Amino acid sequence: MLDALHSRIADKRDDLVALTCDLVAIPTINPPGDAYVPCAKFLGERLRRRGFEIAYIRGTDTPGDSDRYPRMNVIARRQGSRPGPCVHFNSHIDVVAAGHGWTSDPFTPVVRDGRIYGRGTCDMKGGLAASVIAMEALIEAFPDLPGTLEISGTVDEESGGFGGVAHLAAQGLFSRPRVDHVIIPEPLNKDRICLGHRGVWWAEIETQGRIAHGSMPFLGDCGVRHMAAVLNAFETELFPALSERRTEMPIAPEGARRSTLNINSIHGGMEEDFDGLPSACVPDSCRMVIDRRFLIEEPIETVKAEVTGLLDRLATSRPDFRYRIRDLFEALPTMTERDAPVVLGVAEAIRSVLGKEPDYVISPGTYDQKHIARIGHLHDCIAYGPGILDLAHQPDEFVGIDDMVDSARVMAMAAHGLLTAGRA
Ligand SMILES: [Zn+2]
Repeated sequence: MLDALHSRIADKRDDLVALTCDLVAIPTINPPGDAYVPCAKFLGERLRRRGFEIAYIRGTDTPGDSDRYPRMNVIARRQGSRPGPCVHFNSHIDVVAAGHGWTSDPFTPVVRDGRIYGRGTCDMKGGLAASVIAMEALIEAFPDLPGTLEISGTVDEESGGFGGVAHLAAQGLFSRPRVDHVIIPEPLNKDRICLGHRGVWWAEIETQGRIAHGSMPFLGDCGVRHMAAVLNAFETELFPALSERRTEMPIAPEGARRSTLNINSIHGGMEEDFDGLPSACVPDSCRMVIDRRFLIEEPIETVKAEVTGLLDRLATSRPDFRYRIRDLFEALPTMTERDAPVVLGVAEAIRSVLGKEPDYVISPGTYDQKHIARIGHLHDCIAYGPGILDLAHQPDEFVGIDDMVDSARVMAMAAHGLLTAGRA
């Protein structure tokens, strides 16, 4: 029986390539959130023709939403002939800007040497197309399958997911009893199951000084020099401490298997965009944005206290040191248990299709699983899809066609197993 499923997916190879190309050709660049409506409609109308009920849900009043750039999501739902669980495939339809360095037009997909090149092929329209083809083949091979299949195309993952999965989760669309198992086809490789991600905390630190004439800096107080003291404390105390901190989370790549901190930006003194010469001033402020990625072993309160503690020590030891710190964004680490049903189902499908044990990984960065866990309280969720994460957001991004076909077979088998679990 499952052989019929695999041969159907093999037969749909050209359809899979064409669907990926069609999706890539819709330039859903975020920011600003271009072409979300045509992309959502393209996906929704295709699945409507396959018997899915379609809902278009706009992330009204979410960051970036406007009549010019509506945050349009689509959920396709197909209820089977008999009751049963619901398996949901969630893909983001937004892509990051093309950037420089492309050898062909990023939104005119090129099929060459068994690969499709274009912005979003890997992250993650190839995965979206694989899940669509997998579900279409599954329905054709098993028309009276019990349970419910859902496929969603959601927006804004690249900018936090607030107009997309977070918005839908707040409406109960990623919670039981509506949904039981979620697979997110992010590009984690066809033989890997991604159980979750590290935590993230973004904050802005400002060191404050006093403006004065640049010829007499002793009359002022330089905010940039205070920030240099912060950076020095980071170098001598914080970075060494973070690099010592190891985790039990199986994060890939290996280098991310510890706590990290990126200095996202620093601005001090004169604005950067001006014509002519700068005016002679002592900077009265310097601002730095930090991007701290943390481990499941680290409570977020400790993560924050480590930074504020360092700043407080500077305030007592360094004359005139004053600072402000402001939270910008945070998400807790999440890690689905290895014996969760969706993990077992996809692992079994990988063994069957690829003839090997799956690798279990954790993503260094977050993705929409955070909203499904925190807002939807649904923990039977993983990322699984074709493509190599390192290629995401790069010029000449590509996805391998064989990898897409293989992962479509895994997705279809896994969905079949989850829908028929406990049944003959
Ligand atoms: Zn992605």
